[in-house]
Amino acid sequence: MKMKRQILPVVVIVILLLAIVVFQNMGTTQKIEGEVTAFTNVNVIPMTSETVLENQTVVIEGDEIILVTGSGNVDFDEEATIIDGKGKFLVPGLAEMHGHVPPTDPPANAPRYMTMDYVENTLFLYTAAGITTVRGMLGWPNQLGLKDKVKSGELIGPSLYLAGPSFNGNSISSPGQAAEKVIEQKEEGWDLLKIHPGLTLEEFDAMANTANDIGITFGGHIPADVGIIHAIEMGQETIDHMDGYVAYLNEYEGAELDQKIHKLINLTIENNVWIVPTQALWATIIGAADYEAMQQYDELKYIPATLVSGYNAWANRLLNNPNFNRENAIEHAQLRQRLLSEMNKSRVKILMGTDAPQLYSVPGFSIHRELEVMAEAGMSPYEILVSGTVNVGEYFSHKDDFGTIQKGQRADLILVKKNPLKDIAHLKDHSGVMVAGRWMSKEFIDSKLTEIESSYKNN
Ligand SMILES: [Zn+2]
Repeated sequence: MKMKRQILPVVVIVILLLAIVVFQNMGTTQKIEGEVTAFTNVNVIPMTSETVLENQTVVIEGDEIILVTGSGNVDFDEEATIIDGKGKFLVPGLAEMHGHVPPTDPPANAPRYMTMDYVENTLFLYTAAGITTVRGMLGWPNQLGLKDKVKSGELIGPSLYLAGPSFNGNSISSPGQAAEKVIEQKEEGWDLLKIHPGLTLEEFDAMANTANDIGITFGGHIPADVGIIHAIEMGQETIDHMDGYVAYLNEYEGAELDQKIHKLINLTIENNVWIVPTQALWATIIGAADYEAMQQYDELKYIPATLVSGYNAWANRLLNNPNFNRENAIEHAQLRQRLLSEMNKSRVKILMGTDAPQLYSVPGFSIHRELEVMAEAGMSPYEILVSGTVNVGEYFSHKDDFGTIQKGQRADLILVKKNPLKDIAHLKDHSGVMVAGRWMSKEFIDSKLTEIESSYKNN
């Protein structure tokens, strides 16, 4: 009896303490009202650092993430759409930073498959594979309207940032014309300028000086007359395909080569240049790829058959060209891989991209092929993810907020089944993609892919 009397006050105190804890938790449970979408019980890879936040709830309203909090801290009403993320991983959507969006008004000599359906299917393919942002690297007349059609939800597609029609040896014939075109494209509203080979040094400088003066950036290739060093010094913002680097380095070997690689990397960093490596495509173009394996890619069924036979014909021509030397091609590809590896170690800012649609690069699906090659160059899964998410957000930070999973960011998300920080290939196996707040379940994506496949069976 005596013991019990002593225990009683302790029990009362414990009950009181528990009541306080419960009461406090009731106080912090947030009630979210109205039409929101929420991922619950999900592991979040926020991409603000290399970490996994376990058992989170991520709430989306419109196209924006409005809350990221521990699961159990939020209550929803019946208008909310809840997506159970138990055991799964939520990562920011990826970007294709050297993508192509087909013309909405195809030129007269365009192939038969270039219809509006082809444009719509291309945009959908990107999102189906988890790509929620595309930097289109070749503008076409009247293409800017597509950005709004995607934004308004009329079309399903990634958020688009578009380079204008190309500056190249055919489109530009004088420095004065180059300067005029820069002003024209800025006024039309293109996001950046696309540089192709063929510009003379004077034309390039006129383009670059005008672009720097009026505040529009330029990226893409390095014209031979200009060279990598001058292009960097003139402020080229992105160098795609690592163009110009290998052309410059090819003249050196041994210790001299090492030294030149470091010189170029330092110059790249000092000038805040971004690199879009597109390694997989370049291995294809130079003849270092395994064409037989590529011809078996399952995703080729999602593009017109005429395109695929064109790719096969191209590969045959290359392999049967008497001047083609496969060993040289493989050596070239190895130098490119070494360059990417050294750039990554030196913290050059790398952006994910593949140049889709291109030779065997099917929009969206080609990214996952590229990620394998980035991993082979020694990039960690986190570093690869950075190149397609938080780096892209930083690159476009003057335009929009996206690239991480945080309050206020655009709701571009992939719900993957296994942790991609363990193996980057896990990104392929997803349960759905959210593009600017619009949720597409895997079932929806698969049924749409089947439609696309059957529409291309005979053309
Ligand atoms: Zn391209």
